[in-house]
Amino acid sequence: PSPVHVIGGGLAGSEAAWQIAQAGVPVILHEMRGVPGVKTDAHQTDGLAELVCSNSFRSDDWEYNAVGLLHAEMRALDSVIMACGDAHQVPAGGALAVDRDGFSQAVTAKLEAHPLITVVREEIVGLPPEDWDNVIVATGPLTSPPLADAILKATGEESLSFFDAIAPIVHADSIDFDIAWRQSRYDKEGPGGDAAAYVNCPMDKDQYEAFIDALLNGPKAEFKNWEHVPYFDGCLPIEVMAERGRETLRHGPMKPVGLTNPRNPTVKPHAIVQLRQDNALGTLFNMVGFQTKLKHGAQAEVFRMIPGLQKAQFARLGGLHRNTYLNSPQLLDKQLRLKAMPRLRFAGQVTGVEGYVESAAMGLLTGRLAAAQALGRDLSPPPPETAMGALVEHITGGHLEGSKFQPMNINYGLLPPLEAPKVDEDGKRIHPKERGRAKKRLQSIRAMESLKAWRDAG
Ligand code: FAD
Repeated sequence: PSPVHVIGGGLAGSEAAWQIAQAGVPVILHEMRGVPGVKTDAHQTDGLAELVCSNSFRSDDWEYNAVGLLHAEMRALDSVIMACGDAHQVPAGGALAVDRDGFSQAVTAKLEAHPLITVVREEIVGLPPEDWDNVIVATGPLTSPPLADAILKATGEESLSFFDAIAPIVHADSIDFDIAWRQSRYDKEGPGGDAAAYVNCPMDKDQYEAFIDALLNGPKAEFKNWEHVPYFDGCLPIEVMAERGRETLRHGPMKPVGLTNPRNPTVKPHAIVQLRQDNALGTLFNMVGFQTKLKHGAQAEVFRMIPGLQKAQFARLGGLHRNTYLNSPQLLDKQLRLKAMPRLRFAGQVTGVEGYVESAAMGLLTGRLAAAQALGRDLSPPPPETAMGALVEHITGGHLEGSKFQPMNINYGLLPPLEAPKVDEDGKRIHPKERGRAKKRLQSIRAMESLKAWRDAG
């Protein structure tokens, strides 16, 4: 077969190249770091699969943690990222943390030694040459500008998004519906055509004042030099709005108008926090207008002051950083190919997944899809019950139409829901507090079974 070209030797591109070569198809991996004078704003070395920030692949618990499940799925599919991560593990409790240099050097050595992989140090500065008919673009959140511009032109409109601030996302089953209620402002239809697509959390005056104090006093993340993005007025961090005046939020994202608390219809709340359904399954809700640069630890504490969210579990916390990603639900097909130019497949953070492991997982999958194409075989992505399949669903259409597509870590809310079990495998009653945990385990077991069936059929 003719070679597959992979652009970008980060987490996704390295894994993709490995998978293609292991399938018996030659690969040319193009990485710009290593060319004198060429770098990104975050990478420090020329090594493949460099970890730009933390050295953690997060939880390694496959039964009760969605990223741990993703680890297990990747290990079952001969992942080079997981193999090198396991080999260079450092102690980190239940998490998988790695020695970043040892890890990156191991990935580099394995790829360079593979007889079917050629690593070329060069920057791809425009659309790949026409005669590259099977290409994976895995250039990450810091895709170099000439390539980003060329992709932008090829896709039209503002498809290659830049975002500066993101709002937290909450698991629906952690919201206290004895306090919160579902209603859209003025009972208008929300995204998805549902007049009850929003969840409302009411505050009285004292609660509001205490909340504003907590926002103003909470520790904020420092700006790094690559974070010099201007604020857009429509997307100001919540604490920046609060700094403009104590009443600003009450007239902005927390305005208490057009909504009636069914438990107390005659008393108008002083302020209301709204959450909007975030995925088609209805398992995740984002906090409307709550983009923030509060430090992660402080966010959970401050946002749990909101009545109804006192036990909130966050699928993603808010944050502020530069990020280049495609509006994938519009632009990519289920094979993760650009609809407008199917010779280009996309992988990694640029597709709208977030995180090292998620990026590598999408590299793994696109590597297998590209190899199958080169060998003339049909292959579909794994089913949505798997963590990998759930990520593909998220980036190719699982989010609600009309809502803004935002990058996402893997979490159980992306997997099709299951009833929380009331009894365990031995028929013993599970305490109500333990049922959410038991449900995760069932989702994980289902995922691994589906994944292995998919692997063995492909
Ligand atoms: P990358 O790993 O960035 O790989 C892309 C590669 O493409 C790079 O090697 C780059 O040099 C190369 N490249 C770019 N343009 C071209 C071109 N035109 N030609 C050739 N090569 C090119 N996730 C976490 O899980 N934990 C964290 O702590 C974390 N911290 C982050 C900090 C920052 C500053 C950023 C930007 C992101 C962070 N992320 C983190 C998110 C994400 O997981 C990582 O960015 C991850 O590396 C993404 O993997 P990737 O393969 O998509 O991109």
